[in-house]
Amino acid sequence: MRCPYCNYIESKVVDSRPTDEGQAIRRRRECIDCGRRFTTYEKVEEIPIIVVKKDGNRQVYNRNKLLNGIIKSCEKRPVSMNEIENIVDDIEKKLSNSLEKEITSREIGEMVMNRLKGIDEVSYVRFASVYRQFKDVNSFMDELKKILDEGSN
Ligand SMILES: [Zn+2]
Repeated sequence: MRCPYCNYIESKVVDSRPTDEGQAIRRRRECIDCGRRFTTYEKVEEIPIIVVKKDGNRQVYNRNKLLNGIIKSCEKRPVSMNEIENIVDDIEKKLSNSLEKEITSREIGEMVMNRLKGIDEVSYVRFASVYRQFKDVNSFMDELKKILDEGSN
């Protein structure tokens, strides 16, 4: 790491600690030539997660896209932005903990549905109808029927 003052190539690390969020390591360095101190940050390079779509096409996982999908399902429903972000955070945690670098869009959809189901049924059905369209119409209709039955009691 070059010294920003004198451009000397070598420095020694005098202090090293994680940043508050734990996302990076902050290092205090001292130039071996001029003795001045400077700070560097070391970050882990994030490995992109690949989403395999229904048609087999692959796409880099996109947080905003997933967020928007859920927001759309929760439109005019009592689901806070905070709850929606929690769902996405949990899914991302699961993704980064798993050793797989690929996940199908179906698996992501199932994870969202499992969470939405416990938060708001209408949002859940809206989301499910997008994800399960054509493929699993029967289970979707069963689900819808169950909710309608409950509502009429
Ligand atoms: Zn220097």
